[in-house]
Amino acid sequence: MLQQLASVGSLSAHLRSHGQPSDLALSIQLIAEISRVCGASGFMAWCQAACGLYLEESGNPALSGERLHRHITGQTLGGTGLSNPIKSYAGIEKLLLKATPEGDGYRLNGSLPWVSHLQPDGYCGVIAQVVAGGVATGRDVMVLLPGTAPGLELLPCPAFSGMEGTSTFAIRLNNFKAGSADVIAEDAKAFIKRIRAGFVLLQCGMGLGVIQGAIDSIRAVESSLGSVNRFLDDQADDLQVEHDALKAEILELARNPLPPDLRRLIAVLAGRARCSELALKAAQAALLHQGARGYLASSPVQRRIRESHFVAIVTPALKHLRLEIDRLSRDLTD
Ligand SMILES: Cc1cc2nc3c(=O)[nH]c(=O)nc-3n(C[C@H](O)[C@H](O)[C@H](O)COP(=O)(O)OP(=O)(O)OC[C@H]3O[C@@H](n4cnc5c(N)ncnc54)[C@H](O)[C@@H]3O)c2cc1C
Repeated sequence: MLQQLASVGSLSAHLRSHGQPSDLALSIQLIAEISRVCGASGFMAWCQAACGLYLEESGNPALSGERLHRHITGQTLGGTGLSNPIKSYAGIEKLLLKATPEGDGYRLNGSLPWVSHLQPDGYCGVIAQVVAGGVATGRDVMVLLPGTAPGLELLPCPAFSGMEGTSTFAIRLNNFKAGSADVIAEDAKAFIKRIRAGFVLLQCGMGLGVIQGAIDSIRAVESSLGSVNRFLDDQADDLQVEHDALKAEILELARNPLPPDLRRLIAVLAGRARCSELALKAAQAALLHQGARGYLASSPVQRRIRESHFVAIVTPALKHLRLEIDRLSRDLTD
C-alpha cells in the first residue's frame, strides 16, 4: 500500500525532485489522511517522506539521482534512525554509533535499538560520531545504511504494545563499511539544523490524522449514544475546532518558511507538542464516547489510543519538546 501511495506521488510532495514545485503543507495533509485511518501506516509514510528529504538534501549525486527517483516512486523504501542523534543533540543521551574514517568512507560500529519501515532490501539514514585513534573528532557523519550487508544485522525488537506492523528492527553494526556514495552529510549537525523544521512539521501530519480519526469515532456514535455522551467533557465539535486551528497553524508554518530563526523553530516545536497533547486527549475522549464497543480489542478506538501514545513518545517526545521549548525560549530572552 505504501508503495502504491508513493507511486502516485503521495509521499514526496515536499520534495523538489518529484516533478512539481515542492509543497510541504501538502505532504503534511497526505500523511494526516493516511494516519486518520491507520497511525502505523501514517508513521511509515512519514519515515518514507523524511528519508526522501535526507536523500534530496544530501547534495550527493549518488543519492539524489536515480536512488532518489526510485525512492520517490516507491520502488524502494527507506526509514530514519535519527531518534538517538536528535536526543543526543538535546543532551538527553549519548550518540550510539561510531564512525572511523577509512579510505573514501567510514567503518561504522554500534547499535540502534529501533528503526522502523526497514526491510532487507530497504535502507535508512543514521548518524555516527566520527572518531580517530579512538578519540572523538567533534564531528558527526550522516550515512545511508542498506537493509542487509556484511557487518550489518537487523535484529527483531521485543513485542510493542502498539505500532506492530511498522517493520521495526534493532540495527547492529560491526565494522560496517560505508563508502562516499552512502554519505548524506559530512557535517551531520549542520544538516540536522537545516532539515529539522521540515522533519518535525511532517511528523505533525501523523498527530493531526490520529486526532481526526478519534473525532470521527466520536461522531460515529453520536446518533446512538449522544443523549448520554453529551455529559462527557470533550465533545466532537470542540475537539474539531481545536484540531482545525492547530492544523491551520501547522500548514501556515509549512507554507511560509520564514528565515529559520529561533521564534519560528519554537513555533514548530510548540505545534508538534500540541499535536501530541491533542492526540492523547482526543483518543481518550473517543474511548469514553464509544464505551464498550471501543473497549473491544479489535476496535480502531482501542488501537488509536496506542497510536496517540506513540505520537507523544516518538522522538521528539512530548517531554523532549517541552525541554527544547524551555531552553530555546530562555535563549530568546537572554
Ligand atoms: C514502535 C516504535 C518505533 C520506533 N521507530 C523508530 C524509528 O523508526 N527511528 C528511530 O530513530 N527511533 C524509533 N523509535 C524510538 C522513538 O523515537 C523514541 O526514541 C523512543 O520511543 C524513546 O524515546 P524517549 O525520548 O521517550 O526516551 P525514553 O523512553 O525516556 O528512554 C530513555 C533512554 O532509555 C532507552 N530505553 C528505554 N527503554 C528501553 C528498552 N526497553 N530497550 C532499550 N532501550 C531503552 C531509550 O532508547 C533512551 O535512550 C521507535 C520506538 C518505538 C516504540
